[in-house]
Amino acid sequence: MALMKSAVIPEFFARLRQAIPEPETELEYDNVYQLLVAVVLSAQATDAGVNRATKPLFEKIKTPAQMVALGEKKLIDYIKTIGLFRTKAKNVIALSQLLIERHGGEVPHTHAELQDLPGVGRKTANVVMNVAYGEATIAVDTHIFRVGNRTGLAPGKNPLQVELKLLKRVPEEFRLHAHHWLILHGRYTCKARTPMCPTCVVNDLCTFKGKTVAV
Ligand code: SF4
Repeated sequence: MALMKSAVIPEFFARLRQAIPEPETELEYDNVYQLLVAVVLSAQATDAGVNRATKPLFEKIKTPAQMVALGEKKLIDYIKTIGLFRTKAKNVIALSQLLIERHGGEVPHTHAELQDLPGVGRKTANVVMNVAYGEATIAVDTHIFRVGNRTGLAPGKNPLQVELKLLKRVPEEFRLHAHHWLILHGRYTCKARTPMCPTCVVNDLCTFKGKTVAV
């Protein structure tokens, strides 16, 4: 795997930015608490599947107190189409309780406080800090892990290695939106099975040896 040259990284992101100037998460939510719940539910599930389940849920439930009052059993009725729904329901109720006890019902701003909540790992904390609080964090999901390795932009053996390399290599100008650009690029162009290399806007900058060709 050849490392992408540092000199071309600004051009790499400039082209992704040109395609989507203001990228946003595809998860639907009305407030930071709902965003946190949606991200917890999205582990190993698609954003579209989470949105289908949370649409009726979020019409009724907008605060941790309302979620605790709803209870685990009724929450399961809303989210049972999402993978790992039993564990996720338990975590959502428990984290809602902790938000009330420790944070006055608000979603905290720091990595440490977020990761202390049940079901919230480094990736979820990074998404909330980036999307809700405008911090230049990079949450490495399956798409970013693949794109980081495949393109030579940020090779690493695990998500943390890729995250740390991205934080080092992505120019500051692009860091705030880097994770959305990379997710969307991975989801729609640099797909897992068959990357769409012939139409990819960063084809000439990417160092992947197995690029697909037009037939
Ligand atoms: S050229 Fe192919 S492998 Fe490289 S980033 Fe584009 S889609 Fe992915």
